[in-house]
Amino acid sequence: MKTFASSGDLAEKEQRLEVLADGVYALTADGDPNVGAIEGEDFLVCFEAMATPVAASGWLARLREHTSKPIRYLVISHYHAVRVLGASAFGAEVIVTHDNTRALIAERGQQDWESELARMPRLFRDPASIPGLTWPTATFSDRFTIALGGDRGDLVLAYCGRGHTEGDIVAWLPRQKILFAGDLVEAQAALYTGDAFHRDWRGGTLDAVAALGAESLVGGRGAVAHGTQAVAAAIGQTRDFLDTMLARVGTAHAAGGTLKEAFAAAHGALAPRYGRWPIFEHCMPFNVSRLWDELSGIERPVIWTAERDRQVWDQLQD
Ligand SMILES: [Zn+2]
Repeated sequence: MKTFASSGDLAEKEQRLEVLADGVYALTADGDPNVGAIEGEDFLVCFEAMATPVAASGWLARLREHTSKPIRYLVISHYHAVRVLGASAFGAEVIVTHDNTRALIAERGQQDWESELARMPRLFRDPASIPGLTWPTATFSDRFTIALGGDRGDLVLAYCGRGHTEGDIVAWLPRQKILFAGDLVEAQAALYTGDAFHRDWRGGTLDAVAALGAESLVGGRGAVAHGTQAVAAAIGQTRDFLDTMLARVGTAHAAGGTLKEAFAAAHGALAPRYGRWPIFEHCMPFNVSRLWDELSGIERPVIWTAERDRQVWDQLQD
């Protein structure tokens, strides 16, 4: 029997800080959630908050080797706990999310916290340091532009449509052509689609992400994609993963099969290409369960709880 989700993944990952352009930073970690930062003339914008304040303080110490500017904005790409619950460590003046992300935190933030803590305990370094749910202080529906000052250009926060969740946003530097894509794009890491809208994501949402024309892309997990070819490959991999799930789960669903048959078909089709990538086994039961619901006409993802996680896992992994 497989170990539940990522609860058996306890080996520390090596973190790697990359300077992508003057004042643009990405921290990647072998498939753990990526974070970033962008310098304005006299302030900083941080992208993603990690799972706990203690985890975030390690990243901030690395960042402080490069800049001492105060953090004005903390941008959070979506509501998932491992992206948001470290927010208090940043001391940001403004915490920005999409409108839908604020609503999702209100609706299911507490359940998601408990679910993710059990699924990915290693990421929750000192969970007692979390002061509570993170609440945005500024939200938007379409675009939110931050003028960076000097000749640094703008940082454009944009909503590209429903995808990994109902409220994902990307952070785009049009002058530097660098994109922080959050979990809408993964580069050599498996997709988590347990809260997703698969058809929107593989269609108009990824089209909108691709249309930005990024030359460097920081995905939700995995290495930074450098160059237009690598960016296209990361977006293409994300779409292929979704298309394969839609095809295999869709066939089983249309044939009147069972969830378990759909899981076996999707797992079998994806494993040769994606099975060795981070969190593949962890994600697949939750992914197939959500897609099955989506194909059954359940519009919004059912809330994951620590209890429901175990039920779905046990049903599909035995
Ligand atoms: Zn996520």
